[in-house]
Amino acid sequence: TSILLWFRRDLRLADQAAVLAAASSGAPVIPVYVLDDETPRHRKLGAASRWWLDGSLRALSKALEARGSRLILRRGASPQVLAELAAEVGARTIHALHHYEPWWRNAEKALVKEGLNLHLHHGNFLLPPGTVKTGGGTNFRIYTPFWRASQQLLPPPLPSAAPDRLAVPAAWPDSDRLSDWCLLPTKPDWAAGFRAEWTPGEAGALARLDAFTPHRASAYNDRRNYPSEEGTSRLSPHLALGEISPAQVWHAVEGCGAGVEQFRAELGWRDYGQNIIAEFPDYGARPAKPAFDAFPWREDAQDLAAWQQGRTGYPIVDAGMRQLWQTGWIHNRVRMIVASFLIKHLLLDWRVGEQWFWDTLVDADYAQNVVNWQWSAGSGVDANQFARIMAPLTQSPKFDAGDYIRRYVPELSALGEEEIHDPTPIMRRRCNYPMPIVGHVEARQRALAAYATIKAG
Ligand code: FAD
Repeated sequence: TSILLWFRRDLRLADQAAVLAAASSGAPVIPVYVLDDETPRHRKLGAASRWWLDGSLRALSKALEARGSRLILRRGASPQVLAELAAEVGARTIHALHHYEPWWRNAEKALVKEGLNLHLHHGNFLLPPGTVKTGGGTNFRIYTPFWRASQQLLPPPLPSAAPDRLAVPAAWPDSDRLSDWCLLPTKPDWAAGFRAEWTPGEAGALARLDAFTPHRASAYNDRRNYPSEEGTSRLSPHLALGEISPAQVWHAVEGCGAGVEQFRAELGWRDYGQNIIAEFPDYGARPAKPAFDAFPWREDAQDLAAWQQGRTGYPIVDAGMRQLWQTGWIHNRVRMIVASFLIKHLLLDWRVGEQWFWDTLVDADYAQNVVNWQWSAGSGVDANQFARIMAPLTQSPKFDAGDYIRRYVPELSALGEEEIHDPTPIMRRRCNYPMPIVGHVEARQRALAAYATIKAG
């Protein structure tokens, strides 16, 4: 009898343990992807992620066809859709990789209730979440000791190759047509900058990795904080959709010199985030520090729109928000700056920023996003403090953001090094660039005063 191979955010054939298990079972394999906007508490994919998903599913379909197989597309609540498909083809077994978002765990429970044999395999993270423990057997809260302990259990196993063929069923079940899912923008077509920057799919992921090794990887430590340069791997959307495994990335940078350790430590942040949401499934909904429930957040649609559209009058913040809008991605240093700005300079709830990122990032990932936003807010389980307020006007020259600003805020592109980070009022008028929507010193005082109310309470 046939078996189902259920793809989620693991859209690859190489180093994919569920693919391998299904292929080596010898049974006819029915690969399936379900577009699920319906499972309880399921976060619908954002618009940028849908754009990416379209390309990624096309690539996966082709790769399966090259192996004599197919990708079946269905839409609806995953447990029901899979149970129906299983009944249709007479399958009892499903192979899939582990995922830790709360809605996937709900879906898995529901599938087991349906009486299906769900085989879950590891491989989306360096180490399975829940396996790295303190000496006392508890989970880590803080990244640094978590990563120290993780390293004792690493490296991950060597990656496995994609199987040459998958056994096919006598007849294929029906599949939706991908174009009917309308994952791509129509009017307006906002994705031109996305197409210029990205190639979704496994081959695109390997090409990014190739471009990163060995030189960029070896310079990573020195260059990763400079947004004007391509100092980081830009693998995040590929990793988020699972088009490449962290083990593949880990082993590919072996021997690339000085930057490797720091780069692998960033992959460690990815594992850390998964551990947090595996333990605290509602991390995206609620601050981990309960005092933050009473935080006096402002509500200000105008300030929010200025942040979203890159019109705050802080060039580094605006460059970041426009890079996000144009390409679906922001440099990590600038993510930290724009998040701090929203939360502390504008005093808007981190959840509002998290939602905007969720909708606009091509690498939008529940764990990475909510853990980083709570980290920025100082409301998380980690050690970061609200009172750590980033100063955008200091960060910008410190990390040489001039060319980055010139690229994404073209009205300032004629300005020299002296003016680009904080143009004078006259320059702003001439360039038709707004005045700062809030002053740094005044914003800082307001933020600390707001924080004092919950610290006292
Ligand atoms: P590299 O520097 O080349 O790092 C390699 C990989 O390590 C990345 O692809 C990523 O998978 C992982 N990584 C690096 N930094 C982090 C980090 N701080 N936390 C977790 N994983 C990390 N990353 C996402 O993938 N999805 C998100 O939704 C997301 N939201 C974020 C929100 C905020 C407010 C902040 C401050 C950061 C967020 N990040 C998110 C983390 C980080 O900014 C991106 O992973 C990184 O910029 C991706 O670029 P890269 O692939 O070139 O990274």
